[in-house]
Amino acid sequence: MNIGVLALQGDFYEHTQVLKRLGANTTEVRLPRDLNGLDGLIIPGGESTTIGKLATQFNLIEPLRKFGETKAIWGTCAGAIFLSKDARRDQPLLKLMDIRVQRNAFGRQVESFEVDLDIPVLARHGNGHARPFHAVFIRAPLIESVGNGVEVLAKVESGAVVAAQQGKLLATSFHPELTGDGRFHEYFMELAANS
Ligand code: GLN
Repeated sequence: MNIGVLALQGDFYEHTQVLKRLGANTTEVRLPRDLNGLDGLIIPGGESTTIGKLATQFNLIEPLRKFGETKAIWGTCAGAIFLSKDARRDQPLLKLMDIRVQRNAFGRQVESFEVDLDIPVLARHGNGHARPFHAVFIRAPLIESVGNGVEVLAKVESGAVVAAQQGKLLATSFHPELTGDGRFHEYFMELAANS
């Protein structure tokens, strides 16, 4: 299995480390041709405006949209914003996922937080136990609304949606690459394997 990680800006390195630990080959994607032969793609956290501007400069927007029509893509944090249809402001977006996000919804960098989430789709990776998933939120977006065909995977206590899936597309507000718990990456690899 070969999983690409968009490597324009942000914490792409951390994703490649988790993927390698789980036995996947990884490719750092910076140019359209880097998408060839990939089973799936992760768009990391960072700064969504910067990722969008660089993707535009490197002529990646259309190739990424095409890729996402048939293959698995997972956006974490800034990556989730970049995947979305609507971020309520003018910035380059892939518009692949029918979700509206609110950037920096939990406040500023100093208001970053960590919390244990209940994520039922991960249950089968814990021998049937829905062991909580420790989630790190860093100036995170929330998913304000989801369209038809989008499944909500996790919410925080306030009820705000922080993980969603639309077919082979995944969006998480938080950073599973930072905690050593590989279950979300495994879940994504399963989606990619079925691409
Ligand atoms: N605040 C960033 C943005 O709006 C996302 C932060 C992150 O990826 N950790 O793009």
